[in-house]
This record gives sequence, C-alpha cells and structure tokens, in this order.
Amino acid sequence: MQSQYQVTKNLYRTEDTYSDIPEQQRKLVGTMDGIEQRLPTISSELEFLNIIGKRFVAALDRFHVHRAILTTLQEMYSFSACCILLKGNPHQLFIIPCQPLSASFLKDMIQRITSAAQVLDFPSVEAEQLAQTAYFDAPDEVAQFRTQEAIEGTEIGSCLNVPLTIENRIIGILSLFDELVGTFDSDLLKLTTMIADYAAFALENVGLREREHALWRQAEHERQRLELIIRSMTEGVLITDEYGAIVSMNQSAQHLLSQVVDNLPSNIPLQQLAQTQNIQCLHVLAASVHESLHKNTIVSKELLAGDSSEQVPLTLSISVAPLDDSSSTTANPIGAVVVLNDITASKQVERLKDEFVSVVSHELRTPLTNIKGYTQHLVRRLERRIRKIHEAQQAQNTSMIDLPESVDLHNMLIVQSQTDRLERLVNDLLDRSRVQWGQLTLEYKSFYLADVLAECIRSVQASAEQHTLYLDIQVPDTHVVADKSRVEQVIGNLLDNAVKYSPQGGQVTVRLQEQQNNYLISIIDQGIGVNPEHYEHIFERFYRVSNATTRQYSGVGLGLYVAKAIVNKHGGNIWLAENKGIGGTIFYVTLPHTPSGEA
Ligand code: ADP
Repeated sequence: MQSQYQVTKNLYRTEDTYSDIPEQQRKLVGTMDGIEQRLPTISSELEFLNIIGKRFVAALDRFHVHRAILTTLQEMYSFSACCILLKGNPHQLFIIPCQPLSASFLKDMIQRITSAAQVLDFPSVEAEQLAQTAYFDAPDEVAQFRTQEAIEGTEIGSCLNVPLTIENRIIGILSLFDELVGTFDSDLLKLTTMIADYAAFALENVGLREREHALWRQAEHERQRLELIIRSMTEGVLITDEYGAIVSMNQSAQHLLSQVVDNLPSNIPLQQLAQTQNIQCLHVLAASVHESLHKNTIVSKELLAGDSSEQVPLTLSISVAPLDDSSSTTANPIGAVVVLNDITASKQVERLKDEFVSVVSHELRTPLTNIKGYTQHLVRRLERRIRKIHEAQQAQNTSMIDLPESVDLHNMLIVQSQTDRLERLVNDLLDRSRVQWGQLTLEYKSFYLADVLAECIRSVQASAEQHTLYLDIQVPDTHVVADKSRVEQVIGNLLDNAVKYSPQGGQVTVRLQEQQNNYLISIIDQGIGVNPEHYEHIFERFYRVSNATTRQYSGVGLGLYVAKAIVNKHGGNIWLAENKGIGGTIFYVTLPHTPSGEA
C-alpha cells in the first residue's frame, strides 16, 4: 500500500492523482502565487490567513470547524467531498459530501483514507470499521442537482490527503476528493497544509471542549443524583459550613427539627443560635457540630428533643462527621454533616420492655424473699438439731454416726445457694433499668469486707462441688463503709461467673489487699478465660462473649454491667486481666475505704 503514496514533507497524495505533476512542482513547499488568481477578492495572503484564522477561532463546535474547513477549501478548489479522520480509539471519520456521491465513490474514498492512515501508522485502522462508524455531515449549501445516472457514474479522479498535526503530533487526516483529475493544484498545497494546521488546532480545541462538557454533564448528573438521594432519605440530613451555620438540610431534617425549633435560620452558626434560645436539644446539636468541626466524629448520640414530662418524648439520635476536604489547603474541616434519626418508637419499645422486666422482676422478688426466709429458717433448724444430736452423742460418749439431717442440711444449703443466685439475677434485671436511667442508689453502712467475702464464698461454694473456693485476706483490718448488699451482689456475680466459666472445676481464689485508700479485691479463676479483644466491651449491657465454646453457658450479659455501675457508684473501679500461667481470668475490683465518687 505504501508504494501508492508519495511523501513530500508532511504532504501525502495518491499516485493516480499526481503522477502527472512534475518533480519540481511536487516539492511544492513553494509559493502561494497561484492564490491571487484563485482568490481575486482577497488582496493579500496575510489578509487571507487572517480571515481563515478568525473563522477557525470562531468555530465553537466540531460542525462549525467542518464548515470553516469546507468554506475555506472551497475558496481554493472545487471538489466533490471532504473527509476528516481523527485518530483515536476508535478512530472517527467525518464525511462531508459537496455533491451526491455514488456508492463506489464512497467506498473508494474510505479505502484511500484507510490506506493513508496505515501509511501514517494509525493503529488498527480498517476500511470496513470506518465505513460502519462514519458520520455524514451535510454541507449547508446543497450542490447542483444530478440525475441518479450521473451520480452512479462518478469515480474518484483526484485525491489529496493532508495530515492534521499539532506540534509534530498527527491527530488525524484531512482528505479531499474530486471526480476530475488534477483538481488539487500543487501551487496551493502549502496553503492547504496551513489550513489543515488551523483545522487541527480547532478540532483539538473542540475535542477538549467536548470532553470538558461531557465531564461537566457527568458531574452535574452525579450531583443531581446525590441531591435526589439526600432528599429522599428518611433520615434527616443537615449540612453546615465551616462556622457551623446550616448550609442545607433535607425535608426529613426540616420536619424533625421543626418539632424542636420554630425557625432555623441558615446564616447563623448553630452555637450562636443556641445561646439565644433556651432549647436543650439545640445546645447539644450545636455542641456536637462544634466538636465535629474540630475533626471529631460523633456516633449515635441520643438527643431528648421533646418535653421530658411526656410519657414518650421525641428522642433523636444524631451522628455528626466533619467534612474533610483533602484537596483543601486549610487543615480544618469545611463543614459538618449531621444525620438525624427519630428513635422515639424504639425508645418506647425499650421503655415498655424495661417496664415489663421490672414488673416481672418485682413479682419474682416476693416469692423469692419467702423462699429465702423459709430456707434460712430450715437451715438454722437443721443446724440446731444436728448440733443437739452431736452434743447428746458427746454427752453419752457414743461414737458420731452419719445423720440423715446432715444430708438434709447439705441439700438445703444448695437450695439456699441457688436462691441467692436467683436473687442476684432478679436484682441485676431490676438494676439494669435503674442503671440506665441513672436511678441506682446506695445505702451506706459500716461493715467488715472480709465477712461479706466469706459469706459470698460460703453461698457459692454450696452449689459448686467441683470447685474449691479460697479466701485470702492480706490486710489487717477490713472495715469499710459501703452498701453491703450491693457489694454482695458484685462479689456474688463475679464468683458465679468464676464458677460458671470454669467447667472443669478447679480453684477460685478471692484475695483482699490494700491499694492506697482502696481495698483491692481479686477474683482469680482457672477457667476458659476471656480473649483480650472483648475486654473493652465485656462491661456493656447484654454483652456476651460469643463463640462455639462460650455458647453453652447460660446467662444474659447483665452481671458485669450492673457490677461496674455499682463499683463506679462507690467510686471504685473494675477491670479484668488474664490469669497468666495457669489460664483463666482475674477480675479486679477497687473499693474505697470510705465513700467517695458520685455517692
Ligand atoms: P453472663 O454471665 O450472664 O453472660 P456477665 O455480664 O456476667 O453475663 O458476663 C458477660 C460475659 O463475660 C459472659 O457472657 C462471659 O462470656 C464473660 N465472662 C464473665 N466472667 C467470665 C469469667 N470469669 N471467665 C470467662 N468469661 C467470663
């Protein structure tokens, strides 16, 4: 194919068209002398270049550039068609016929353009593909009428292919075709190349503009989609600027906030607004936004938005995140985004659940107290009877024999121990809502901590036959001022767990030590242990370590939650660690000698 073309500088033409042009004329770079005969109305070359320059600069889209090319070239030549092939993936071919063309003319035209593109190393260019994807751009002025016969008979007589280049980079080919032979006068080839250069710049510019426009349209489409999503969200979404003033909010946010504040102006920072209005919810919202503007994220903060005297006040959950613009030079967020959720319904369900659990727990307490009382009474009676029998045996000097009462006592102690456990569970259930609503109260009194620890051990030991419970007191005086039954509840819960989570049995030690003004109680077991990843959650409400091994243990995940609340209320602390070496867990509790903290 290449042999078909003569290459003169950046000019390519088919042999059949130019075979008759003498060699010196083919060099061509020459002169523009011919132009004055061709373009008698244009007085000088410069004026002509100026005119065509303006034409191309004024062309704002691809089709205006095509018009400019056509108009300019038609001032120089009369030809049948002009084509523009733009390099790309895929290549784009634009055909601008100046008169009706026959199918064979068209086919030949595309074939020749393909050949020229192959010479210029356009990647994978094929005539068939170009023919299928070519665009036809009709000229404004329709050429003179020709009969179908006349059209059918047309063949290509001359052809001119000029590369479209920008700074030595070939972006396409401008091709001219005519039925007549010798149409493309070599005198005008340099000028044609110049026009092609103008055209190349103009086409590159409109290409950039088209791409820019497409990107803008895509961005606009995305923006509208995002706006629609935010508008349709059932969650309220509110966006502030970097000063905390509302920039926009969706309908849900407007609806939710309208129940709190009559009017939320958009140009005043929320903190400033909160100062002028005595609305607690607004204060919390403003403070959360302020915090977020200092790069903190707030997740699911509860906001009492309604009147607290109502049975189920409007409650919102808010999450606030800073709008961090990574491209911005300033270190601070450019605003904050607030997501509001109405959680009143779930609060209502929670409250109903709480009420139900409280009622059931209260109902359970009455029979439990009776069972406890009667069990204690029976235990004492049995103990007394056994003591009397032993005393009688000692007085008669008879050898001690196994008494059926001893077996009864043993069984009664198990009943007592399990009743204590049941009582702790009921108390935990009752205390759960007290802790949640900040209603946990303590009744301080003076007692000896060692006695309480011993009593707890005795109670738990009665129904923990596989375990040996030890008490290790390492302080001379164990006098403390605290809520005795609450301390029993904490130690009882921790001992229950120590036994429950050591299914193989083993030793459980309760150690009492001194630590500054606190007692340090350690409950050490040799059980299944707790993976450290659970340490930070284990004191949360209803949190249970869940895996194949732990699923077999019964429980509700409240013991540690309530224990922590009680210990903290006393001004103490509770935490856990691995029982290194032997395995198992150590729970530590500190308890001030005398009341401190919130109490
Ligand atoms: P419950 O025992 O009713 O599940 P708790 O609040 O007392 O609830 O304990 C929470 C979770 O902590 C338990 O489910 C258990 O997985 C883990 N846990 C508590 N104490 C121990 C312990 N001594 N050894 C191993 N795991 C424990």
